Amino acid sequence: MDVLFFSSKPYDEQFFARANQEFGYNLKFLEVHLQQSTAILAKGYKVACVFVNDTVDAEVLQILAEQGVQLIALRCAGFNNVDLKAAEALGMKVVRVPAYSPYSVAEHTLALILTLNRKTHRAYNRVKEGNFALNGLMGFDLHGKTAGLIGLGKIGLVTAKILKGFGCRVLGYDIAKPAECERIGIEFTDLKTIYAESDIISLHCPLTPATYHIINADSISEMKKGVMLINTSRGALIDAVAVIDGLKSEQISYLGLDVYEEEADLFFEDLSEKVIQDDIFMRLLSFNNVLITGHQAFFTSNALHKIAEITLENIAAFAANASLNEVKSAQQA
Ligand code: NAD
Repeated sequence: MDVLFFSSKPYDEQFFARANQEFGYNLKFLEVHLQQSTAILAKGYKVACVFVNDTVDAEVLQILAEQGVQLIALRCAGFNNVDLKAAEALGMKVVRVPAYSPYSVAEHTLALILTLNRKTHRAYNRVKEGNFALNGLMGFDLHGKTAGLIGLGKIGLVTAKILKGFGCRVLGYDIAKPAECERIGIEFTDLKTIYAESDIISLHCPLTPATYHIINADSISEMKKGVMLINTSRGALIDAVAVIDGLKSEQISYLGLDVYEEEADLFFEDLSEKVIQDDIFMRLLSFNNVLITGHQAFFTSNALHKIAEITLENIAAFAANASLNEVKSAQQA
């Protein structure tokens, strides 16, 4: 089986090469993103292995199909970047890694919350310079605060358990109430209550037409003044312009982002010598109560190991005319 990787990084190569010892596939790693101009590189490959910011729309799928690609193997959980209807129309299968380590993302969510609250990033720099003043570093006890989670899937539930460990009251909303809610101690509620009562709001739902810009001027106006907003899911859950207005009016007092709607032009690359052209992103960076990481919540050795293993298992199932972790267009509604 010949597999072509797009948007590959040295760590992908390292973890996939190790996992491939069991499978013996021909893996070819390309650094370029998948898009219309690069899809032709898949000539002769049956499988294209793609990541979160690769473009897998109808045009790209058409070119891939013409090159002989039959399987799109996502090495991530989210599949919002794939036109699943177009894939189905072309007879192509799409597989993903539905779960690899919910702990990786949930724990990063807590890293953002704790850093924003206790300002350890600023303390680190101060102490290195011999400045031990505490002005500006005051935080609040998480114990007793109300955290509202939107999306109670694998990551949302792990985040809820961790927050319960801190002594938070945890509210949760999902389109389907998970059975574990009572056992974990999550108060299952509606979005209105989450917005009205939460000191911290964290997003753990997928990007779908229903969740696109779920955080917008209206929802922000329903939140508690001084709210902390965290997004480790997908950038387009948030209307960044509305969030900037919320930060300026101090309706939002803390913002932690691991994802950003226009991240495809920024994240995973070293742009330190370049002029960043995205003025909305640069405005976000200018607030000292905003903490942005570049889509690294998944990035633990445990997660990378699992991602490689499950992706190759998905490909093996396809090679055996079976189906494992396939996604269908009905899931994109
Ligand atoms: P999951 O499928 O287990 O859970 C998602 C939950 O969201 C489900 O319970 C679903 O019912 C719920 N949901 C769907 N539509 C909703 C809506 N309109 N309102 C409220 N809830 C809704 O997925 P997961 O593994 O918990 O991952 C959650 C998201 O995290 C993924 O979709 C992905 O976008 C993101 N993610 C980010 C990273 C990262 O590195 N930052 C890594 C992995 C996943």
